[in-house]
Amino acid sequence: MKQQVTKRVHIVEGIDWKAAIVALLESRSPYRPWRYGFGEARKGDPVAIVLHTDPRTVMTALGSIGTDGRRDRAVVDWSLPAPGLVDLDSLVMLLGLDGDCDPRDTWVLRGDAALRLEQALIEANHRRDAAMRFGHSSVAAARVLLRSGGRCTGCNNLIDLTGEDARDSFRIRTVDGPVRDAAEVLIKDEWGASSYVEQGIPANCWRPTLPADWPGVLCRACCTRMDEDGCTSLLGFRFSQHPKCPKCGAQQARAAQFGMPINRDVYVDTPPWVDWQGCCNDGHKWSCAVCTHEW
Ligand SMILES: [Zn+2]
Ligand SMILES: [Zn+2]
Repeated sequence: MKQQVTKRVHIVEGIDWKAAIVALLESRSPYRPWRYGFGEARKGDPVAIVLHTDPRTVMTALGSIGTDGRRDRAVVDWSLPAPGLVDLDSLVMLLGLDGDCDPRDTWVLRGDAALRLEQALIEANHRRDAAMRFGHSSVAAARVLLRSGGRCTGCNNLIDLTGEDARDSFRIRTVDGPVRDAAEVLIKDEWGASSYVEQGIPANCWRPTLPADWPGVLCRACCTRMDEDGCTSLLGFRFSQHPKCPKCGAQQARAAQFGMPINRDVYVDTPPWVDWQGCCNDGHKWSCAVCTHEW
């Protein structure tokens, strides 16, 4: 008869969240910001990674113990896009993880509590929320750094995160969330025809709605260039590297991207200076966000 194995989830804490994310993004990093209590651990046991942002968060991608053959360390791996971060206090409250099941006090969750935490994180990993990229908290900054994958948002180059000074080799730009527009009223006449039908579709309805700015991680060179150029927004900085529109002269050209994103989350995560164009490549490189001209 096969023995019933009790489910376990181990907790690993990154006390310094920035160093912890650098260590996650760059396996050669000398940073070791982790605290953990792997007592009895089995190969393949899931590991929840808690970051000491304010408030504390837990990563939606779970690690696992010993998948690289070593029982004394956990490995976490993720595909695109980067994992999310969930507020730990709220998660504990919603899952009813109290007493010796509280992941803020214990290093190992067992049985039903372990199952519930694991399931909640797996589910959260499938539910990305685009609004979470905005705001100025350390949680928003940690999300931006995770999402960067260690790449500068200004120039797309990989940032060297291998040194002791890695945490000073980039700057995280956080931005305000957009204020939502009031709903547009679509007027219908007594025959049920909408004003759009009567008047034709206005040309500006094809114009993309751009956010005021975009969060990102900037390498030292891009920080200097932005300061020297007097750029006050990362969005403006990226557009300044693209050509002006030959039709209207606006400096808001989006780079055409042909093909399909690998999943919906990657599509939602696309920065506003990139324009997905589908699979039919007609050879144009740019589309103007102001007049919609393509060239
Ligand atoms: Zn850069
Ligand atoms: Zn234009």
